[in-house]
Amino acid sequence: MPTERLDRRDPALRAFEARVLRHGRWGERPTLVLDASAFYPESGGQLGDRGRLGALEVVDTQIDDAGDVHHLVEGGPLPSPGARVEATLDDARRREHMALHTAQHVLSRALEEVAGATTVSARLGERAATIDTARTLSERQRREAEALAQEIADADRPVRALTPSPEELARLSLRRAPKVAPGTQVRLIEVEGFDRTPCGGTHVARTAQLGTIQITDLVGHKAGSRVTFVAGLRARRRLLHDAAALRALGGRFSCAPADVALAVDKLERQLADAREALGAARAGWAEAILAGVDPAEARWVQVLAGLDVDTVRQVATRWASEGAREAVLAAPTEGGLHVVAARGPESELDCGALVKALAKRLGGGGGGRPERAEGRLKAPADLDLAAALDGA
Ligand SMILES: [Zn+2]
Repeated sequence: MPTERLDRRDPALRAFEARVLRHGRWGERPTLVLDASAFYPESGGQLGDRGRLGALEVVDTQIDDAGDVHHLVEGGPLPSPGARVEATLDDARRREHMALHTAQHVLSRALEEVAGATTVSARLGERAATIDTARTLSERQRREAEALAQEIADADRPVRALTPSPEELARLSLRRAPKVAPGTQVRLIEVEGFDRTPCGGTHVARTAQLGTIQITDLVGHKAGSRVTFVAGLRARRRLLHDAAALRALGGRFSCAPADVALAVDKLERQLADAREALGAARAGWAEAILAGVDPAEARWVQVLAGLDVDTVRQVATRWASEGAREAVLAAPTEGGLHVVAARGPESELDCGALVKALAKRLGGGGGGRPERAEGRLKAPADLDLAAALDGA
């Protein structure tokens, strides 16, 4: 005799007493098999229940091919076969799964109605609940399906489990055909006046318990789409979390949550202005530095203390833009020097080879083309760059 499924009879049952039939194993982990259980074993995309069996913690529930429900337990010695145990389920987890599972039925039907998109598979994971559809959904269809599903939730329709006779079953229209062998008792879940489909999972009693149904992501998947959604407790948690994050952002910008986007726009404009001003300041700075160099000197070698790398690049490029001029300039950075070598069109200096030789001598790395090269040197800010070049 397989475990009697109390969860099928009463999805609201959260505490019961049962007898230990035997000790089992699930992979490497010890399990308890009872004569009856309200713990839902993982199947049909819904995760297994958690809770307590006496002093033991039930960390997962699974079902074997014979229909025995395995309670994966931790936290002490296992009670002997024949012993009676008091069982309680993790109510919040189960309610979350019931809401997600029922919302999946409602959304699957809504996606069919709105877009003719049948459900290929569904998964109610620890972190994400998803529906994969046979055809691709548009953003508009996503919004319409979400609105229809929410309308069904708000209408507080009854949700029932039906076990029809073969004759009754033949007369009923279903969203998808039963997967069980012909002649086996089929269990249907009906959302009154909206959806009827075979399912062995746990569901809420009325659609108002779904609260908010929200599609949080829509991406292409195989030939169709993958819809990620939240409902019930998970939807509320997510919305509260998002609202708190937005309020915190509003606090940092000293504005209302609804005005955060405007505040970010303003910040972006200020950043663009600041970048433009910085660019102009650097150009002016480069100009002033270049004015101080003797134009008769073809080769200019110097560590430019206090300059940033971008400005050093600008200065080197400007200097080496004509004739046989050459520039080997460096800016102090954290842990060393950033060196830039550049040559004019008439110079035959190999900048790449020069930077490589410098890096080899002082430590560091870098290289580039004969016309232009850069490197990072392990050298102090007061390095005599000309002497280092002579030795390289
Ligand atoms: Zn279901």
